Amino acid sequence: MCGIVGYTGERQAAVILLEGLSKLEYRGYDSAGVAVRDNDGKIEVVKAKGRLSVLEEKTNGGQALSGTCGIGHTRWATHGEPSEGNAHPHHSDDLSVVAVHNGIIENYQELKDKLIRKGYQFYSETDTEIAVKLIDYYYKKYLGTPVDAINHAMVRIRGSYALAVMFEEYPGEIYAARKDSPMILGVGEGECYLASDVPAILKYTRNVYYIGNMEIGRLGKGQVTFYNLDGDQVEKEATEIQWDAEAAEKAGYEHFMMKEIHEQPKAVSDTLRSVLRDGRIDLSDVGLTEEDIKEISRIYIVACGSAYHVGVAAQYVIEDLAKIPVRVELASEFRYRRPLLDPSGLVIVISQSGETADSLAALREAKEKGIKTLGIVNVVGSSIAREADNVFYTLAGPEIAVATTKAYSTQLIACYALAIQFAKVRGEIDDEDYTGLITELETLPDKIGKIIEDKERIQWFASKQAAAKDIFFIGRGIDYAITLEGSLKMKEISYIHSEAYAAGELKHGTISLIEDGTLVIGVLTQQDLYEKTVSNMVECKSRGAYLMGLTTYGNYSIEDTADFVVYVPKTDVHFSVSLAVIPLQLMAYYVSLAKGLDVDKPRNLAKSVTVE
Ligand code: GLU
Repeated sequence: MCGIVGYTGERQAAVILLEGLSKLEYRGYDSAGVAVRDNDGKIEVVKAKGRLSVLEEKTNGGQALSGTCGIGHTRWATHGEPSEGNAHPHHSDDLSVVAVHNGIIENYQELKDKLIRKGYQFYSETDTEIAVKLIDYYYKKYLGTPVDAINHAMVRIRGSYALAVMFEEYPGEIYAARKDSPMILGVGEGECYLASDVPAILKYTRNVYYIGNMEIGRLGKGQVTFYNLDGDQVEKEATEIQWDAEAAEKAGYEHFMMKEIHEQPKAVSDTLRSVLRDGRIDLSDVGLTEEDIKEISRIYIVACGSAYHVGVAAQYVIEDLAKIPVRVELASEFRYRRPLLDPSGLVIVISQSGETADSLAALREAKEKGIKTLGIVNVVGSSIAREADNVFYTLAGPEIAVATTKAYSTQLIACYALAIQFAKVRGEIDDEDYTGLITELETLPDKIGKIIEDKERIQWFASKQAAAKDIFFIGRGIDYAITLEGSLKMKEISYIHSEAYAAGELKHGTISLIEDGTLVIGVLTQQDLYEKTVSNMVECKSRGAYLMGLTTYGNYSIEDTADFVVYVPKTDVHFSVSLAVIPLQLMAYYVSLAKGLDVDKPRNLAKSVTVE
């Protein structure tokens, strides 16, 4: 979950490390630390509890630390409370081995007991300190190279890790090891970088290596050497990152989230255009042939968080258009459920980062069972992208705000494109419907742009909700999928309790929680269900609810029922999520802003969830 960075070269490391960490702060921010090696070879470690700014202050923006080789970390605590003592880097008692770690060492207790028997003592509650001391133990026991020591430790450690390690006896070098946690290595002129994610190093280099699972990378001056578990050298090609460095900056917006909301028309259009050729959908880059598509017996969509909500929407769309049965599942459940999968099925895994631990595990589970897999992923070269049989890349560009907006929107587009193409290839829709749906898809970027333009009205309404205790979102069918995402956005960043309920289900539970003035947001984009949802809204109103309606232009009768209404342009019913979600993203943003919260970095959350 956390962010790790490393630098070795000619320049002062601390400043580069802090700058890199600031680009990764969306990944973890309960504490931070850096370790820099000075010119005499001494490793100095500085850590601070709280946001990165505290560490910046403590090190005078990095100026207080001198040295050209170092590692840094922003933490998202898993083992041990957020505190200076538990913050990374962690080190052996004599500081000969110093490391930062992202992930979880699952068998830390067993390893700790072993190390205690060998005379080791521990100063923190973290699993990371145990990994560092295990490396130190093997390093000293076998008097071998850092690669040997890390290899020995990797064989013993269970769990996930991206580790960056410095050894006092190897100046100017950083050792990287990885299993199931993200990490990229970058190379520049006479220097090397290491980071959990691309934005941290984009300013310095575009040449990156992806380090494989159970591999070690040795970063020296301008050169990375890779080793496998046997300690043999492995050859790798560098990849050039295409992302624009500015895309990872705020570009004048107060928050990344608002910038990313505004980037949705472009992200949606780019993703759509990536599979459109001469007005038709072409999935050849995704690697799905017509034969593959015809053979699919059923689809399993597996994802977490907002990507799961995309799956819920996609379930309606794919089933309705392509007539293929779809089941949507939370990745964390799927992986341990021992799912019964049809051998001719297709497992679609959706993940922005392509590193979501639960989704990655679900993908592996499916592959082990011999089922075809397709990843819908934003980050090129990420684990899910590399391991899935086929990949549909969303072209959202870097997404920094913890609460997803543009990645979610592009994932929807990917699902629509699949649904339409599956429907056409399997003969479920004719040519006229096919081109009609594609033409409608092409109008979405403009329509999204129009909704965003009207944000002041939503801001006005949202600012009045800052004191709300509970908010309920209700809708039927695809509108239910919209409410799931609207509710999650709201609670993630405003800390207001909210729930999404299928409108017809409300009376079987949550309606007992409606009190005088409770805000209920009804979503009504599905014409055939419009009156049914209005009735459910009226039921809430009768119990004191304050009603907001979110519907399409033309449904003006909603004003007889709702106290406040937001209209979105009409579109094909299958695509309404793409439009109706926008006001709900804006609502969540403005409520959070009105409460004075940190919109981009909500408490307890981190962006790419690389732990179970
Ligand atoms: N498990 C480690 C800890 O709790 C690393 C967590 C992280 O990835 O930030 O310190």
